[in-house]
Amino acid sequence: MSEPSQLEQALVRLDDAAQYLNIDPDVIEKLKFARETTKARLMIRMDDGSRKSFLSWRCRYDDTRGPTKGGIRFHPSATDEEVETLAFWMTFKCAVMNLPYGGGKGAVQVDPRKLSKAEVERLSRAYIQAYSRIIGPDRDIPAPDVYTNSMIMGWMADEYAQIVGRYEPAVITGKPIALGGSKGRDDATARGGYYLVNHLAEHLGLEGSLRVAVQGFGNAGQHIARLLSGDGHKIIAVSDSEGCVYSEHGLNFSLLMEAKAAGKSVVTTVGEAGHTLLSADELVGVDCDLLVPAALEDMIHEGNAASVKAKLVLELANGPVTPEADKILAGKNVVVLPDILANAGGVTVSYFEWVQNKQGYYWTLEEIHERLKSITEREGRAIWDLSQEKGITMRTAAYVHALARLAEAIEAHGTQSFFVS
Ligand code: NAD
Repeated sequence: MSEPSQLEQALVRLDDAAQYLNIDPDVIEKLKFARETTKARLMIRMDDGSRKSFLSWRCRYDDTRGPTKGGIRFHPSATDEEVETLAFWMTFKCAVMNLPYGGGKGAVQVDPRKLSKAEVERLSRAYIQAYSRIIGPDRDIPAPDVYTNSMIMGWMADEYAQIVGRYEPAVITGKPIALGGSKGRDDATARGGYYLVNHLAEHLGLEGSLRVAVQGFGNAGQHIARLLSGDGHKIIAVSDSEGCVYSEHGLNFSLLMEAKAAGKSVVTTVGEAGHTLLSADELVGVDCDLLVPAALEDMIHEGNAASVKAKLVLELANGPVTPEADKILAGKNVVVLPDILANAGGVTVSYFEWVQNKQGYYWTLEEIHERLKSITEREGRAIWDLSQEKGITMRTAAYVHALARLAEAIEAHGTQSFFVS
């Protein structure tokens, strides 16, 4: 039997959740497939005068609850299936937080670290040229993801304005503040996870200073390390694509940030301030209280899940734990705060950005934090209560919670509106 595909693995969670709800099978059938996935080859001029092309996609998975929303990833191993899987998760994530959005995602198969800044700008603009008819403030709203950032979102918003002949800031979120970005978007993903852990800490039996391991030290990983160390928790292990650093007494956060700011890996801090080297996979099994996967999908799998010693896993990455690993972790009573809840702070503040753009009225940082905290606690609490009431994992409870909302919207639309192509 062939290995299940990434999307098939993601759909396992849908089937699990469906058992706890009395919903029309049409709803499940609709959610098993992406509504539309468009593919384009982006051709750009390189700095040396040559031309090069890159594969790209934009998927609008489901738009029953509103315009599709989801980031654009620049990664050499991006595939159409990964894009659809990420868009499926976005559909559920927006429903978990009760945002008026469906789910989407985009990607370019490229390693942007091998391109110059000017080449990345041309590629970003080419993406918008290819998909300008698909995206739109009330249709499909991109945002940053792995190896894309606010600068890239700014270029994309500018390119969209050139095409449609007016500046439409609500077409894309995660923009620089000067172009209509929101305060608080930079650390929103980590901050949502941080509010969630604090809110549920008592129920999770967490007290005192926690020992934390963070896998991936980009946007999500750096901010969660900063927020937790600011509260006196110890960050004992951190990794990036080059390797992992460890210190039993807590890593020096400023040293790690200095390395990153200089464009270097965290492993370049080995030998300083008691930092030692660990293999990347050893991070998963480090003796800690809280493990935060903040890199890529499938990093905790059948082969390493048994080594997890943490009591709690906070999934800031999308899909970092495979369904087989989920079973192993549940068997060890490790609580997993699932991606569609744990990292939903990013899309929630993206929603705030979109609302502010549409109103032309901008909120203070305090207002952003207060609203994010209140939504995270409201939905986190509802999912915690559901998991306790039904005796199910937080992941299944999060899917049940989202599926109930999706089912209500799909049924309200009526079957005639189902897309047929
Ligand atoms: P990023 O590009 O800023 O950082 C990714 C980090 O992962 C980098 O430090 C990279 O070196 C590291 N990495 C790559 N391969 C690795 C490996 N094999 N082992 C260890 N580290 C590795 O990306 P990000 O925005 O922080 O996103 C990280 C994860 O969080 C992704 O799964 C993304 O989909 C998810 N996420 C991000 C946001 C957001 O707002 N940025 C929102 C929701 C979810």
